[in-house]
Amino acid sequence: HAEVAMYRAKESGRNGCQFYTADMNEQAQQRLELENDLRRAIERNELEMYYQPKVLLADGRIVGAEALIRWKHPSGKFVPPSDFIPMAEENGLIIPIGEWLIQDVCAQIRRWCDEGLAVPCVAINLSARQFQSQNLPDMLALAISEAGIEAQAVELELTESFLMNDMEANIEMMVLLKRMGFALAIDDFGTGYSSLSYLKRFPVDILKIDNNFVRDVAADHDSAELVRGVIGMAHGLKLEVVAEGVETPEQLAFLREYRCDMIQGYYFSRPLPAADFAALLREGKRLS
Ligand code: C2E
Ligand code: MG
Ligand code: MG
Ligand code: MG
Repeated sequence: HAEVAMYRAKESGRNGCQFYTADMNEQAQQRLELENDLRRAIERNELEMYYQPKVLLADGRIVGAEALIRWKHPSGKFVPPSDFIPMAEENGLIIPIGEWLIQDVCAQIRRWCDEGLAVPCVAINLSARQFQSQNLPDMLALAISEAGIEAQAVELELTESFLMNDMEANIEMMVLLKRMGFALAIDDFGTGYSSLSYLKRFPVDILKIDNNFVRDVAADHDSAELVRGVIGMAHGLKLEVVAEGVETPEQLAFLREYRCDMIQGYYFSRPLPAADFAALLREGKRLS
């Protein structure tokens, strides 16, 4: 990176050089600080799981939730996961963070059950590094047994892009996790480059269409065709389809028309703190 910056700096003259160098130092410094803060975030209780409902279009009921991590930085600001998950993935912090969050979600499911709620399946996002750690099955088994819940209560979301690297090992891991009883979903579908023949080999139950395609479905012909095609293909493979990022009645109407199974998005609900999600379950909120 340094070379590229120097090169660009040379092109733009001496002042440019100073500008880029200062800018880079500051960025590197900020990143280092953020990394150190993240290292302490677990002990300081700054991480919290939010829950976003997934709704079945057939009857409008909440049939699932996705657990999404939130980090309240000591500065008081919320750092979005896109700003620290990739960093945690790079420096390995995703392993302790991932372990913490899996235990936290399992314990939350237990508490909701104890409160007498009919708790839907809760999906947890796994990053590449977590998924490729040999310890994952044991760690998951311990987390559910300590919480006293069944594997069926948990779904694991794996992104299309990392599944494509080292396919054989990934398929083996997926088979093992399925055998343990976890439901598996492919996340962000459409952003990677899976072909049909690969998809057929993945032992997954659910396919989640990425926000990016859902966003333009009512306005853009290509997105509409793509989503229609993915739904048809998924159903052909006996997979259920979730559309992510549904925000408008037009998107909803399109997804209903093409028989998408479930939706998730601000239209029905934003991701919520655990207590607010429980309140939705208690009041039996439905999509009308
Ligand atoms: P994702 O797994 O695809 O999660 C869906 C993202 O879409 C979430 O962003 C969610 O808040 C957002 N979203 C939901 N409905 C709408 C909508 O109607 N409109 C729009 N514009 N966005 C919507 P979030 O929470 O910022 O997370 C971003 C990504 O960070 C996630 O994408 C996931 O890849 C990663 N991530 C989040 N939590 C975790 C976690 O606990 N572990 C890991 N490994 N990754 C996580
Ligand atoms: Mg996800
Ligand atoms: Mg997604
Ligand atoms: Mg996404």
